[in-house]
Amino acid sequence: MTVDVAALAERVLAGDRRALARSITLVESDRADHRRSAEALLDRLLPVTGKSIRLGISGPPGVGKSTFIEAFGQFVIDQGRRPAVLAVDPTSRVSGGSILGDKTRMAELSRRPEAFIRPSPAGMALGGVARRTREALLVCEAAGFDLIIVETVGVGQSETTVAEMVDMFLLLLLPSGGDDLQGIKRGIMELADLVIVNKADGDLAAAARRTAADYANALRLMHPMHRAWTTEVVQASALQGTGMPEIWDKVIGFERQMSASGELTARRREQARSWLWRELSDSLLESLKAHPGVAERLAMLEARVVAGKTTPGAAARELLAQFFKAD
Ligand code: GDP
Repeated sequence: MTVDVAALAERVLAGDRRALARSITLVESDRADHRRSAEALLDRLLPVTGKSIRLGISGPPGVGKSTFIEAFGQFVIDQGRRPAVLAVDPTSRVSGGSILGDKTRMAELSRRPEAFIRPSPAGMALGGVARRTREALLVCEAAGFDLIIVETVGVGQSETTVAEMVDMFLLLLLPSGGDDLQGIKRGIMELADLVIVNKADGDLAAAARRTAADYANALRLMHPMHRAWTTEVVQASALQGTGMPEIWDKVIGFERQMSASGELTARRREQARSWLWRELSDSLLESLKAHPGVAERLAMLEARVVAGKTTPGAAARELLAQFFKAD
């Protein structure tokens, strides 16, 4: 596609959904000309971004993420908000399909004109998905969505990646039978600004209460990440829609308190700074690998390193010297 960036930006700003979808496709593309158009588009949109609440939602498969977003999304629409849902799914690369990309998920929310749902870009490594999702988030903000939900499965690095692009991180967990903490890694608990014990209904209600108390105790032993906010634990039933007002209250409270303390602005600035450095190192590495002289020597040097004939340090220096000399 050849892109009239100015016209596309106008339409996105006017809230045109097809333009929004097209812009995200552009942002997700690997083609060099699309990349340039995407950057020009983002330049135009950037001044009107930043006014949404950016939420990350994670939890193991089956915990009820899509059921939760379906219920929560409709609840916030009733509060006058316009939610956009983006997915970061590191499994989509491995399986070709994806856990989060299933079209039947969030069927009701996807029919609401106030909402926008976009599955994870397929066929990309986590780094690529992260970069595109950050940009898609900005495009959604420019199109007038004021609550961006970035959803991810609790697999590998994806939680940390999502936490690096949102204001507030929600962790969904299941009621557990005993007092074990479901093997949730401490690092993931530390990322959470709000822990939600989902499926607090029916036979699971008592277990949910116990689990919530256990997590609350575990959290008390952890060092809080923010000055203005202490992580809390709430119970919810995504299926029955209970807990939504309380969770929304916490989200609003988080944004208010973190804004007042200056931490929200500081966090977004820091995120932008580390995104720049990530882009720099990714691009450098890409150009290095694409460089004809380097590519030729790379395999040879790699073999020598593997065989123990040269050190990784010396090999890296030689490649870099070649790269910069020829440029
Ligand atoms: P995801 O993999 O985290 O997106 O989980 P889903 O939203 O697909 O839910 C997995 C299963 O749990 C489905 O069968 C849901 O109906 C069920 N489920 C989700 N939320 C609740 C809840 O609050 N209570 C109960 N009892 N079941 C739920």
